[in-house]
Amino acid sequence: MIALYCTGTNVRMDRSYPEPVPLVDEAVLSVTHCGICDTDVQLASGYMGFKGVPGHEFVGVDENGDRYTAEINNACRQCEWCARGLETHCPNRTVLGIFKHDGAMAERVAVPKANLHMIPDSISDHSAVFIEPLAAAFQILEQLTVFRGDRVAVLGDGKLGILCAWVLRTASEDVTLIGKHDKKLAMAGRDVTKLRLESALAEHLKSYDIVVDATGNSSGLETACQLCRPRGTIVLKTTIAGSHQLNLAPLVIDEITLIGSRCGPFPKAIAALEADMFPVENLIEAVYTLDQAEKAFEHARQKGAAKVILEMSS
Ligand SMILES: [Zn+2]
Ligand SMILES: [Zn+2]
Repeated sequence: MIALYCTGTNVRMDRSYPEPVPLVDEAVLSVTHCGICDTDVQLASGYMGFKGVPGHEFVGVDENGDRYTAEINNACRQCEWCARGLETHCPNRTVLGIFKHDGAMAERVAVPKANLHMIPDSISDHSAVFIEPLAAAFQILEQLTVFRGDRVAVLGDGKLGILCAWVLRTASEDVTLIGKHDKKLAMAGRDVTKLRLESALAEHLKSYDIVVDATGNSSGLETACQLCRPRGTIVLKTTIAGSHQLNLAPLVIDEITLIGSRCGPFPKAIAALEADMFPVENLIEAVYTLDQAEKAFEHARQKGAAKVILEMSS
């Protein structure tokens, strides 16, 4: 089959990639759509040392034509962590298109049946590609109680930053998206306050109760420390190939709570899209066929690119 292959340092098309061989508890889906996210771009630059087919934000159909997406952590469901309901932290897990398991930038993908979520008819294929990152945004509300009066800042005007801002806006009336690109900031729409990073640093130091770092770069946490008020909370969403060079003293001095945040609840993301709560399709910048995946990756790599989607021609 046709697949995009990540070599650990780059991506290249493979036109005779072996068909997925499903494990006993897995189903094979024909992929129809797959989003390229910043994690994929990071993987192609060496993050996690991943070699295989990337792709974890996808829509696939089974032999009955039913549409599914899947959670990305493939847990063992036998260990102590899984027994406690912490499947996303299973030490034996593989991760779809990220760690020891091929992903969905291919004609077909194998995923654990237990991870499948059927996509309701009212959600378009293009919107459904956002279920996984939207679930990650909803994870913040699982980890942290956000009050209506909380001043919330989201750092980073990329796709994940905008999704986080939208989700947080359902809890707080005061959400500010902080970024560097007017065009991308504008995508967040009317209900979110938009601020250029330099203005935030000039006028809003130590102002926010909650700061989410969704910048995708190593300077995000330091900026978050500058914007978060004493005894405030920083939520870290950034995963990067490089490492942080950060003085942690400000966290201690300002008694800031730091929360790492990753994958989240798919049912909440699906329900939100079903209710048409967020205009996710506005975040799509380009659609390529699987054949053009290398070109699509180049596009997704460009600074300031919004969501790039691969559409498999059937
Ligand atoms: Zn992703
Ligand atoms: Zn386990």
